[in-house]
Amino acid sequence: MTKPLHHLSASALSKAFIEGEVSAVDIAHYFFKRIERYDKELGSFLSVLEERTLERAKALDRKRSKNKPLGKLSAIPIAIKDNMHIAGELTTCASKFLKNYRALFSATAVRLLEEEDALLIGKTNLDELSMGSSNENSAFYPVKNPWDPKRVPGGSSGGSAAAVSARLALISTGSDTGGSIRQPASFCGIVGFKPTYGRVSRHGLVAFGSSLDQIGPFTTTVEDAALAMEVMGRHCPHDAMSLDLPGEPYLDLLTKDLKEIRFGVPWNFLKSLKPEIRTNFLQSLDVLKSLGAKIVDADLDICKYSIAVYYILATAEASTNLARLDSVRYGARSLSAKTMEEVYKLSREEGLGREVKKRIMLGTYVLSTGYQDAFYKRAQKVRTLLINAFEQAFCHCDAIALPVAPSSAFELNSIADPLEMYLQDIFTVPANLAGLPAISVPSGFDSAQMPLGLQLIGPQMHDVLVMQYAYAFEAATSFGQKIPPAYEVGL
Ligand code: GLN
Repeated sequence: MTKPLHHLSASALSKAFIEGEVSAVDIAHYFFKRIERYDKELGSFLSVLEERTLERAKALDRKRSKNKPLGKLSAIPIAIKDNMHIAGELTTCASKFLKNYRALFSATAVRLLEEEDALLIGKTNLDELSMGSSNENSAFYPVKNPWDPKRVPGGSSGGSAAAVSARLALISTGSDTGGSIRQPASFCGIVGFKPTYGRVSRHGLVAFGSSLDQIGPFTTTVEDAALAMEVMGRHCPHDAMSLDLPGEPYLDLLTKDLKEIRFGVPWNFLKSLKPEIRTNFLQSLDVLKSLGAKIVDADLDICKYSIAVYYILATAEASTNLARLDSVRYGARSLSAKTMEEVYKLSREEGLGREVKKRIMLGTYVLSTGYQDAFYKRAQKVRTLLINAFEQAFCHCDAIALPVAPSSAFELNSIADPLEMYLQDIFTVPANLAGLPAISVPSGFDSAQMPLGLQLIGPQMHDVLVMQYAYAFEAATSFGQKIPPAYEVGL
């Protein structure tokens, strides 16, 4: 092996294992050592599954020595966001309320990864119950950005993004309700993909906003994202909204000429972009043009309402979903609770963080009698208009191009105003509201040497196309190949 293991893509590492250049046990030890060395500072993991993984790695080595068929993800170290179940392990959702909750079954996406011989090395940190854009809402500890420890990794899947960016895992899973895969991918300089709603099963994912939630991968290359999607993008009878379609051959279809492909840009929606974000975005469009693509105007003015709509619908759904966290069926019970009433009240008061409480209250309010028509129903109507606007836009273009976030990674504790934090999602939320596939692919660095991302959004079900466009963009730029300097060295 000429390169250290963490400099390889997931696909390359798996190939090296299959060809007998390295054993699964050595791979597991290598990445656990990296976690031990770096993660105290980084904070990207909440738990590390060393014993479990080593047993699986040994079994995988035996399988290889007996020449049995090996899975598509053989020996790839994969980290799982701690809001997805691995049977028998903790699923804390970075909440004190669930700090002792052990999963009874594995999430479908997790099970599919493991069936293809991936090594599930640990559970990653997040904003409590996936609510946030910076990972500062974790009840345990914040995650640092591998490019600059003073800055946030983005959220809510910040632990998953930081772990892959620092090469403590080569793939991780995230969940994206309003941007939680794409924004942290962009902040950490890696690839993040949110599939079409329903493409990856939500069974075993702790629900936040059920009509918006989608599981997807973080990777260092688009090819690895395609590989992960081939495995996770399957129909599942346990998720009522799971698309009953055959899995797609993402890898076989990855290469595509961008000649005559039309990328729609909603310029009106981008009026107040910060200069550095605008410059980088224009440069990205130039790259697409140099590959033969055309840039056309897209009318998506309706997107200016998307944050308002999202924070009504997502909180409404969250308040309903989280009603089951009652300390009877789920969750830690307050030691001072004496009556039934106190069990509910005190347990929630002590167990849940500020942001989660705020959202439960907001969601309950917008659903309450008298306000439901003014807020919830109205927001649903605007959501329909937004879906229609995207449908219209896709009559004139093949995909939409947008920045991922209005800024690069910001400093820890630097955003106190909740509205400013919510506006982090302005460019990512529309794809969730319309259920569209969207990718964040590294597009360069700003003057502070922090990574930036380009977002490409496709029509529903066209996940493969989105992947193809990103693959062509990546091949022409390859910003994602850069490893944060502090994590570049070997063990
Ligand atoms: N930042 C958004 C929120 O706080 C999105 C979160 C997510 O996608 N899970 O709601």
